[in-house]
Amino acid sequence: MSDHGSLTIVGIGPGAHDHTTPAALAAIAEAEVIVGYTTYIRLVRELIGGKEIIRAGMTEEIGRARAAVERARAGGKVAIISSGDAGVYGMAGLVFQVLQESGWHKGDSPELRLVPGITALSACASLVGAPLGHDFCAISLSDLLTPWPLIERRIRAAAESDFVIGLYNPASGRRTRQIVRAHEIIAEHRAGTTPVALVKSAYRHAESRMLTDLDHCLEYEIGMLTTVIVGSSQTFEFEGHMVTPRGYSNKYTWQGDVLAGQTPGRSLVVEPLATSRSAEEEG
Ligand code: SAH
Repeated sequence: MSDHGSLTIVGIGPGAHDHTTPAALAAIAEAEVIVGYTTYIRLVRELIGGKEIIRAGMTEEIGRARAAVERARAGGKVAIISSGDAGVYGMAGLVFQVLQESGWHKGDSPELRLVPGITALSACASLVGAPLGHDFCAISLSDLLTPWPLIERRIRAAAESDFVIGLYNPASGRRTRQIVRAHEIIAEHRAGTTPVALVKSAYRHAESRMLTDLDHCLEYEIGMLTTVIVGSSQTFEFEGHMVTPRGYSNKYTWQGDVLAGQTPGRSLVVEPLATSRSAEEEG
């Protein structure tokens, strides 16, 4: 049907094309209209020659989402792009809200598709080691759209329950107080020696990474292109890497034997440690 448009919400990954999935590249190639924040349009500029581009500044997100939905409803093949994963502090949620507001129902034009991307937390983790090897959470410190008391409550809960914490939007030019307060709350529950990674512009020009600890992390630059990863009580530094173990060492020896007082997991009774994890666990 010629009047049936498509709207594809695409996560383009952290920066360089090497980290944009083939599915994301294909979605961009197929689209006639590309909608996105200027910086992200720039990241994919070689792919979009000849296409119509709708770009706007950061403050015009709703306008961009509406433009994308209108063009797609009218039959256009539209791709709306976000950095990282579009569903993680990205445009995807907003697009659904605009669709809802416009009275869209399943089966209507446009046809919707979402293409996942490598989110900043995964990208930044890969540059410092394996900090997300056990339970972790993400918290955005941006209080533009979220009340600060709620953000504080989440930071406190995450710190108390020993999650590895990934902080998105830790600071911007004018917004510098939040990371200081977040640090204060986390430090009430974690040792000053807890490893902290500061990764800026992962997989982009001017990438930088810093491995430090809770006592010293505020001495370094933290801005709007930085993701902060705070370790749990189990996270350790190893040869310049930040590592959060799966926790096996508490239960099993490295030879695969069960430690005194521990109950063996079923598969681990007969298999050596290295091959005992299920494919699902290894993700
Ligand atoms: N949708 C994006 C997140 C957008 S929120 C994603 O999934 O990655 C913007 C925040 O993400 C920034 O303030 C920063 O904390 C983080 N971020 C995005 N790209 C990054 C990169 N290349 N390196 C480090 N942090 C990044």
